[in-house]
Amino acid sequence: MKKENQIKNSLIVGMILFALPFLFKTIRIFFTSKIYLPIWFFALLLLFSLTFFIILFFWLRKPKYSEDVFDRIKWRWGYYPFGGIKNLTSYCLICDTFLFHREWGSKTYLKCENCKIDRTCFDGSYGYYKITIESKIDQKIRNKEY
Ligand SMILES: [Zn+2]
Repeated sequence: MKKENQIKNSLIVGMILFALPFLFKTIRIFFTSKIYLPIWFFALLLLFSLTFFIILFFWLRKPKYSEDVFDRIKWRWGYYPFGGIKNLTSYCLICDTFLFHREWGSKTYLKCENCKIDRTCFDGSYGYYKITIESKIDQKIRNKEY
């Protein structure tokens, strides 16, 4: 049994050693061969590569900070690839349910349909309130307070 394993291992090592020169030769041919491409195709490849690396660069730079509590409301959001907050959404701090907003006169109410209570009331429109929350998030990101 042990001798069979030794023979098997020796065969595997022998096959690898036999294949190594061919492998090196193939790799050398791959990296030293020349191909001819139309210049427009090369430019297109270059453009796609640059775009990919720029998006990757900004994607790696975006903060992982995407949830916080402001004014006793939980807020979640995402980021655009080149910066900026997107999909800012409010959630109930108690049951974590999406909050509905309704504007009544000059005031806006955020209501949890699960808890059946208004979570907050503020002056101005919901859009204006979201902008104030975005400015708070932006301030925390710039000051690295998250
Ligand atoms: Zn709730």
